[in-house]
Amino acid sequence: MRKRALITGVAGQDGTYLTELLLGKGYEVFGITGPDSGDFLQRAEDSGGALHSVTADLTDMESLLAAVEVARPDEVYNFAAQSSVGNSWSEAIATTDVNAMGVLRILEAIRQLAPEARLFQASSAEMFGNAAEMPQSETTRLHPQSPYAASKAYAFQVVGSYRDSYGMHVSNGIMFNHESPLRGLQFVTRKITDGVARIKLGLADELVLGNLDAQRDWGFAGDYVEAMWLMLQQQRPDDYVIASGEVHTVREFCAAAFTYLGLDYERYVRSDPRFVRPVDVHVFYGDASKAREVLGWEPRVRFAELVHMMVDADMERLSAKA
Ligand code: NDP
Repeated sequence: MRKRALITGVAGQDGTYLTELLLGKGYEVFGITGPDSGDFLQRAEDSGGALHSVTADLTDMESLLAAVEVARPDEVYNFAAQSSVGNSWSEAIATTDVNAMGVLRILEAIRQLAPEARLFQASSAEMFGNAAEMPQSETTRLHPQSPYAASKAYAFQVVGSYRDSYGMHVSNGIMFNHESPLRGLQFVTRKITDGVARIKLGLADELVLGNLDAQRDWGFAGDYVEAMWLMLQQQRPDDYVIASGEVHTVREFCAAAFTYLGLDYERYVRSDPRFVRPVDVHVFYGDASKAREVLGWEPRVRFAELVHMMVDADMERLSAKA
């Protein structure tokens, strides 16, 4: 029989890549959508019955119970979140309601209506904060330093508690930054690729960013959703770091993007202290050896290829406007 998957946050970056992956594997996919999910609704309509839209909200328990009842899932992937660290200071309560309490609601809905279903929870390397340990692995101590990170740390721990308390097949992917042409424009990588394309096309003359020396472990979202799927195919639920294991500064991302279009980033990029976060985590560097050994997972797209893919997509999108 066809497997059934329920994806929350289905219209976001990871939801879009995972939907493609699961449809390719013959799943029937139920996606939780909100009011801004126009493209997804069209894709569901065009899918010939493989893809369905379910309206629900992570802040509303009744709607989640109804979604689980309709989907009768074998697998649930929880991506829905207020996913911006930067916005989490100004939207701390809303962030916590969705990212922390929302996960508890999902767990309860599964426990009550589909206890055999397997859950993937999108946990974040932000939970490690300014970790003393380099690189960071599944055993690194959590030290969340933003409302976003704290909400994700609660979710991570309550998933572990449901696994231990009820024997549910629920797993956390501790994901380091992953990007793609679908990354939201509020994130630094997309700001850079959108910005360089605008400058190249004469639509802008500078790019203003925050801390250029922040170091991140950037991978490709299309690779990361494969690791998520593999986690739910294991006999035992567990937690896995998903990372590229390569660290670059924001400055290096700028240099790679501008050089690709034949520009010198130093002429155009400016750092403004107003964009620096109240507490900035300086280095993320993940050790995904457990995922490599147990899941057989390996990221395919490396840093330069990722930057070029994102710049190409923004050039193509913005060329129509130039
Ligand atoms: P996106 O921001 O692209 O997608 C998040 C989705 O959640 C959006 O579709 C949004 O819908 C939806 N959503 C927000 N609030 C609610 C709500 N109350 N009820 C239902 N849906 C809601 O994130 P990504 O795809 O990049 O990330 C997926 C997950 O992985 C997130 O949980 C994120 O925190 C986590 N993560 C991501 C990392 C990354 O580098 N991308 C790294 C580590 C963790 P709408 O647009 O309609 O508001």
